[in-house]
Amino acid sequence: MDGVTPTAHALLAEIFGFDGFRPMQEEIVTAVTGGEDTLAILPTGGGKSLCFQLPALLRPGLTVVISPLIALMRDQVRALRASGVAAGALTSGNTENETDAVFRDLHDGKLKLLYMAPERLASGGTERLLAQAGVSLLAVDEAHCVSQWGHDFRPDYLRIGALRRALDVPLAAFTATADTETRDEIVTRLFGGTQPRTFLGGFDRPNIHLAFAPKNKPREQILSFAAARKGRSGIVYCGTRAKTETLAMALTNAGHTALAYHAGMEPDQRRIVEQRFQTDDGLIVVATVAFGMGIDKPDIRWVAHADLPKSIEAYYQEIGRAGRDGDPAETLTLYGSDDIRFRRMQIDESLAPPERRMADHGRLNALLGLAEALGCRRQKLLAYFEETCEPCGLCDLCNTPPETFDGTEPVMKALSAVLRTGESFGVGHLTDILIGNATEKVRQRGHDQLPTFGVGQDIGRGQWAAVFRQMMGHDLVRPDPERHGALRITHAAKPILKGEEPITLRKDSFESAPRRRPAQTMVSDEDAPLLSALKAKRRALAEAQRAPAYVIFPDRTLIEMAEKRPKTLDDMAGISGVGAKKLERYGQTFLEVIAGEAVATPHPARRKLAGRAAGDTYDRLLAAQAELARGADGTGKPMSCSASLLAKVAALGPNAADKLDQLLGDRLAERFGPAFAEILAET
Ligand code: ADP
Ligand code: ZN
Repeated sequence: MDGVTPTAHALLAEIFGFDGFRPMQEEIVTAVTGGEDTLAILPTGGGKSLCFQLPALLRPGLTVVISPLIALMRDQVRALRASGVAAGALTSGNTENETDAVFRDLHDGKLKLLYMAPERLASGGTERLLAQAGVSLLAVDEAHCVSQWGHDFRPDYLRIGALRRALDVPLAAFTATADTETRDEIVTRLFGGTQPRTFLGGFDRPNIHLAFAPKNKPREQILSFAAARKGRSGIVYCGTRAKTETLAMALTNAGHTALAYHAGMEPDQRRIVEQRFQTDDGLIVVATVAFGMGIDKPDIRWVAHADLPKSIEAYYQEIGRAGRDGDPAETLTLYGSDDIRFRRMQIDESLAPPERRMADHGRLNALLGLAEALGCRRQKLLAYFEETCEPCGLCDLCNTPPETFDGTEPVMKALSAVLRTGESFGVGHLTDILIGNATEKVRQRGHDQLPTFGVGQDIGRGQWAAVFRQMMGHDLVRPDPERHGALRITHAAKPILKGEEPITLRKDSFESAPRRRPAQTMVSDEDAPLLSALKAKRRALAEAQRAPAYVIFPDRTLIEMAEKRPKTLDDMAGISGVGAKKLERYGQTFLEVIAGEAVATPHPARRKLAGRAAGDTYDRLLAAQAELARGADGTGKPMSCSASLLAKVAALGPNAADKLDQLLGDRLAERFGPAFAEILAET
């Protein structure tokens, strides 16, 4: 490098292809490069990896990265190598050859970054190996794994402290988990109790859209949310194992590629799902919370909760799996009275000590408060983490402020029905009393004689369900753990009962629920075919390397290519995400795709399909056809299908192998049949 120290900025552009730092990255990079002990707490997707990768390149010697996420390590090593960085990994996922190569490179002093699974630390030789390899920096990813109280605890993480002392090098620790207990434990166990330079990056995930909806035909709600995001990777979280299976089936029947995942499945089966989710484009996994740690896909575009999560922390973590790459991502959380009852019971029936159960009810209350919020959800969510923000404009309530009404009177009526029936009944029976429905049960108990009987006729049963749900959400009534489903009045209800405090409720607006158009990560209609062609090229390259697509280029980079349409390698170098090495490797290939598509304005047959799923299929068929124009080996006679033929093929849908061959005829079927069939199978 001509004796000049490369600056962080230059390397940022040259190696990673980024124009600038994300918030806090620069400060962290400077501290870590300067050899300070550091602890950085950045939200998921905040760009932590760069904060040790860049210092590793700026410092002499070797940086050792410890991480529990094997798939992530492999991807990062691959991505670094693709960018021309000497990186290697020692994990249980290695082949013998890979491990030998890493040892050779270590011995020759060739490596700049060595990723290591924590299990490695347990083997005796590791410390010696690292001491000889000239380690100058230790980086610890997912540092909260040293916490014995968290559910991600890794016993081998406890060895890191000793390793740091033995090597006597600076340590940089990274995590997205920031509660003070975990932070203190990290300082004790990794830094020997001496407070490192600490960076706290804030909790906001500004690219994630937040939305909640009361359950109302929940399966349809999930199906329509998924339908509007077809072809994009997403996770649906469910409360039970059985539901993951049925919902995955329903999504599959609706034409998605969806797989179930839960802790009751065979480990092999689970690994297959994890693997496919990581590498496939546009897969949906329908899972219990068992699908969590270990998923490290940066381009998950949406997360839906088919059932209410157990706490506000769980909610934050689960939606936080979306949009790690910083591009727009969307979430939807469904909830209903049954969920609230179920979560309360779960806490009451747990074996935790009473203080803990009380705290758990509090965390659930915080989530319910968020669900029934009347103003910006982000403000409410961040407030829980003691942060403030302006109304965000990127949540359902900012988009469509809820209709509210003074709920004091109905709530007082409902509370009085609860009291007069001895706090012994559930929502159904209480509603019957309120609307004056003299059922057998009501008459038997003489509840048709109560003064509250029929006082709530002015609003219907559905509205009462919403009132009771919100009363549970505000923790005015709670299901009694001793008596299944019976509601008891809490302290919080007292001021309302006494008429000292009013309460504002939301009108559930099922009918008018505005369908949010999933705009994001999208390009104009004009650029859409090019984007599809670029994605097809990326998929082909990724498959050839058996790597996830984003290792080649992230979506954002392809979108920028589709919009700016670079014509030369110089133009290409200006696209964010295209570093020097990737430019050299893929620049020309993608330029050709752009040049090929730029002249071809969409055929009318394609334009008719614009915005429909078949349009995407059409574009993929077109891209496949371009690949095979001269046959698989590139030496055949040029062949192509007419645009209207392609449009017909696109409309075939899956399971139409026979019709496909008929439609194409022998000659075209021979050249394109298998590739087309594969594309159709995925529609
Ligand atoms: P974290 O580990 O904090 O969850 P990552 O390190 O995986 O986050 O980064 C998330 C995404 O952000 C990656 O796709 C990464 O390439 C991208 N990224 C990181 N830093 C920058 C930057 N300065 N400019 C643009 N993209 C960035
Ligand atoms: Zn908002």
